[in-house]
Amino acid sequence: MIDLHCHSLFSDGTDDPEILARLADEAGLTALALTDHDTLDGLPQFLAAQPAVRTRLIPGMELSCRFMNMELHILGLFIDPTDAGLRERIEDMRRRREERNDRMIERLRSLDIPITLKEVREMAPSRTVSRAHFAKALVKRGAAGSRQDAFMRYIGDGCPGHVPFRNLSPAEAAQWISEAGGVAILAHPGRSAVRSFRWEDAMRDLKAQGIAGFEAYYGEYGPTEQRYFCDLAEKLDMVPCGGSDYHGGTKEGLRLGVGRGNLNVPDAVLAALEARLPRRIQEIPGQGSGRS
Ligand code: AMP
Ligand code: MN
Ligand code: MN
Ligand code: MN
Repeated sequence: MIDLHCHSLFSDGTDDPEILARLADEAGLTALALTDHDTLDGLPQFLAAQPAVRTRLIPGMELSCRFMNMELHILGLFIDPTDAGLRERIEDMRRRREERNDRMIERLRSLDIPITLKEVREMAPSRTVSRAHFAKALVKRGAAGSRQDAFMRYIGDGCPGHVPFRNLSPAEAAQWISEAGGVAILAHPGRSAVRSFRWEDAMRDLKAQGIAGFEAYYGEYGPTEQRYFCDLAEKLDMVPCGGSDYHGGTKEGLRLGVGRGNLNVPDAVLAALEARLPRRIQEIPGQGSGRS
């Protein structure tokens, strides 16, 4: 059993990266990927846990994109966390996020919530400050009753305190990922669109944009969704990927590896993913030999 989607407290999870590695080992997982939102900052800690655990630890991340007027999440698996190009792109996104955060503070202050950026930053363990941390700060100062209340009244999409900042397309995300040696996978399609959405044509389009597979197994799918997306992956020759999207205490009752109890991502998915990895220049056969 493997799990290729989870979060640490470097984004909106509640566990340290090395705790995740230990939990995976205890659960008997063959492999675990850490896929924090928009940051590589948890990966050094995660990968450093490798010699101490039997589970194979895979570096990853989760990027939010715009596609057909929806927000889609793209996982980059097997990315090189030291890749200079990817690090610069993520750094640039973080700077745009910071400008957006300043504007959200202004919006909230104009709504008579005298919140400061310092308060919000204190909720974030890494330099990446997201709406997850705004929600915690709003709850802490009593401006919202709960995380859900904070999103519903102030900072959810379209709410008065929300300022959007993303404009990444799936094609760009796929390019970022493949240039960093990774494979691009659409996260939780069953959770990213209304129930009646017909995925087949959209998925063909995403495949043409460089997306190699999608989550056919997911911590919060029922059996019908799992079957639908497994069949679709086979039909379109895409990788039926999967993971729990474990967030620690942020998603109550959801566990690493098994999700809500019925998740079981087959080990074979790993080999299917590795077969789609981009060839990096030094691995192209014939380089340096056989040519004169
Ligand atoms: P940001 O990247 O700053 O736009 O914030 C994204 C974070 O906000 C992610 O952790 C999401 O899980 C969380 N988020 C976005 N919308 C909602 C919502 N309606 N309810 C709860 N969390 C949300
Ligand atoms: Mn999340
Ligand atoms: Mn997601
Ligand atoms: Mn996720």
